[in-house]
Amino acid sequence: MSVLDLRSDTVTRPSQAMRTAMAEAEVGDDVYGDDPTVNALEREVAELLGYEAGLFTPSGSMANQLGLRLLVKPGEELVCDRAAHVVRAELGAAAVFSGITTRTWDAPAGLLDPADVEAIITPNAGPHLVSTTAIAIENTHNFGGGTVQPLEAVRAVQQLAREHGIGLHLDGARLWNASVASGVALNELAAGFDTVSVCLSKGLGAPVGSVLVSSAERIAAARMWRKRYGGGMRQVGILAAAGSFALQNNLKRLAEDHDRAQRLAAALGLDPSRTPTNIVVVTVDNARAIAVAAAEQGLLVSALGPTFLRMVTHLDVDDDGIDRAIEILRPLVRG
Ligand SMILES: *Cc1c(COP(=O)(O)O)cnc(C)c1O
Repeated sequence: MSVLDLRSDTVTRPSQAMRTAMAEAEVGDDVYGDDPTVNALEREVAELLGYEAGLFTPSGSMANQLGLRLLVKPGEELVCDRAAHVVRAELGAAAVFSGITTRTWDAPAGLLDPADVEAIITPNAGPHLVSTTAIAIENTHNFGGGTVQPLEAVRAVQQLAREHGIGLHLDGARLWNASVASGVALNELAAGFDTVSVCLSKGLGAPVGSVLVSSAERIAAARMWRKRYGGGMRQVGILAAAGSFALQNNLKRLAEDHDRAQRLAAALGLDPSRTPTNIVVVTVDNARAIAVAAAEQGLLVSALGPTFLRMVTHLDVDDDGIDRAIEILRPLVRG
């Protein structure tokens, strides 16, 4: 029995064509700035998102954490929603590495509401209270169910941040999905932030890698912090080639993942508008029991809380795979 894996869109394996591109990549020592394939990828992503410069990192967490540390000094505060990846899934990295404190607002489905942000920020709070120096937004929102943030809401938060001199980070791990789903260009979705991170190893199917984009000055500082964190890599064009290949070949096809997620959501009796991209989240009585029962039938899903089940579509799952997932999950979820 082959295993069908819907735990995450990180589980994809590089295709033969991607492996060929990796094997043939021109490389050099990237810590010396000598790897042409890394340099090309960093330029390509920066251009695509409308920023001056980019930095290739081994993970999305590192890209996020480098961005945050550039914006927030020790003892200052980052605010974000309470299910944001930066506070929920990076194991306290902002506190551990950067001395950053965090406060969070509640965001049903991860949906951004400028009023929530306005209510929580405390800019220039003086000598007694913690000052907010950065706001982080996630687009699409992972634990919210692949939520695409409304552009007007993003613009309103950016306006608020500018008024108060607060920095802005975009966790755009799946910004690709937001762009494909909304039809809004990547550079428009990425505009108006100080730092933006994107992942190449999720829906795009590269085995490793994220990119942080920002001003040339900030990226130069991030490059030093990356080295300090042990993230200075050498002939890493082999991995950057996978990222460039992914951007060339696997970006537009994300629409297929979105269609399949819709089909799965509808079959499970969910409101299809709650599955705008490739992440299906469903509230169940016992998530772990369902995950175990599905695994016994060869389907892997994520139980991310006692009642929270997540399925993610990706380029290694085709229509037949979704049919099979529906067959297995429908009786388990709908009872
Ligand atoms: C996956 C993900 C990241 C980065 O995760 P890594 O495993 O560190 O690459 C960051 N933000 C969001 C929203 C994610 O889903």
